[in-house]
Amino acid sequence: MSDNAGSRGADVVVLGAGMVGVSTAYALRQRGLSVVLVDRREPGSETSYGNAGILSSGSIFPLNTPALWRKLPTYLSNRHHALRWNPAWALRNADWVVRFLANATAAQTEPRAVALHGLIGASLKLHREWIVQAGAAQRIRETGWLKAWRSDNVAAAKAEQAALAAHGIKSELLDRQAISALEPNILPAYSVGLLHTETASVDAPGEVVKAYARMLDGDGGEIRQAEITAIEKDGEGWRVLLPNEDVRARHVVVALGPWSADLLRPLGYRVPLATERGYHQEFRPGARQLLRPINDAEGSFLMTPMEQGIRVTSGVELTDRDAPSSLAQIDAVVPLARGVVEFGEPVGEVWRGARPTLPDSLPMIGPAPRHPGLWLAFGNQHIGFTTGPATGEAIAAMIAGAPPPFDATAFAPSRYL
Ligand SMILES: Cc1cc2nc3c(=O)[nH]c(=O)nc-3n(C[C@H](O)[C@H](O)[C@H](O)COP(=O)(O)OP(=O)(O)OC[C@H]3O[C@@H](n4cnc5c(N)ncnc54)[C@H](O)[C@@H]3O)c2cc1C
Repeated sequence: MSDNAGSRGADVVVLGAGMVGVSTAYALRQRGLSVVLVDRREPGSETSYGNAGILSSGSIFPLNTPALWRKLPTYLSNRHHALRWNPAWALRNADWVVRFLANATAAQTEPRAVALHGLIGASLKLHREWIVQAGAAQRIRETGWLKAWRSDNVAAAKAEQAALAAHGIKSELLDRQAISALEPNILPAYSVGLLHTETASVDAPGEVVKAYARMLDGDGGEIRQAEITAIEKDGEGWRVLLPNEDVRARHVVVALGPWSADLLRPLGYRVPLATERGYHQEFRPGARQLLRPINDAEGSFLMTPMEQGIRVTSGVELTDRDAPSSLAQIDAVVPLARGVVEFGEPVGEVWRGARPTLPDSLPMIGPAPRHPGLWLAFGNQHIGFTTGPATGEAIAAMIAGAPPPFDATAFAPSRYL
């Protein structure tokens, strides 16, 4: 396989060292291929750093399900904590918005849930193996994830439980007393809870990516820190242009998260990739810590206990990836979080990131339709930290001509390209 290998070549060059790219590079090395992984930053420094750290078994229903239509009138006001949107962006991206909404039907939702369930299941299995192999097992907590309602909305919790159970995903319904027993250190803010029992979480997502990257390095994978300026066809293979050198490889994998569409445009691919931006702010721990992440269903924010304290993450902001930050959403939810758990002063600045999302909320995992040797692995929306390992494993399997560990048909890039 090493026909292009050499000091500046490899079987595969993987672009992007977030959870998806690092996982892909590691899975490729596991199959004995020579790999160069390139990122302008250290592994796990962008979206895969700033997320809520949840390894979610139950996130099989994306944002665009039939439930979105019910919520849409409240979102139109542009004041809801769950979703803010920039009207100018929506006009310029009307095509994406229409296609995103067109997927929010019952008929479109069921097959996507099945597809995501397969991807998530395979990924959680890999995370649980890799985190041990990477010497980072102390970072994973098998304490589940609590979704909690302030109002007495038992019906919503039961409906979610039934929808998850229909896919074999376990959860437990909790009343106020059961929530207090489970999370003795929070104030009695919630009436109803749904504990996703098969979900895990980590206390430092960026550190987990770095641990996987060290595992790759230890296994003979090469990691380079450089800006990638272009991807070009090079005979039977590919050339990746960096400021001071080129990297040649037989295969190239684009795993650039929210930046993935940029380098594909010159190759003639117009990828309908939007960025659902989100923010986090971290706070020093109070005297009494959270034991697991909490998803405040009506407040539309998450709180995760992290290595440094409590990380509060915001809902979705639909606007241009690089538009200036707007702190309205995170500023609105931090006081709500303080009403649930005691925490101290902020640690550092507010962080902003972007969830990369295609109109059907499914990632692209597979070959680029018109360029042999070009592979796409991005668009993992709200669950890329969870789904990185199986996304990578699927790409590695496809490159090796083997079946992926789940049915990847729904993720074929050709559905949009
Ligand atoms: C607020 C928030 C909360 C979230 N919570 C969760 C959660 O709890 N659980 C979960 O599973 N998911 C969560 N997500 C989603 C998850 O973080 C993303 O889906 C995932 O991190 C995407 O990983 P990635 O590897 O595709 O992208 P990234 O981690 O962004 O990696 C892409 C890499 O490409 C590099 N890059 C880009 N362009 C270039 C270039 N030209 N040259 C060199 N390098 C380049 C970047 O430096 C970056 O390192 C959350 C996201 C947000 C924003």
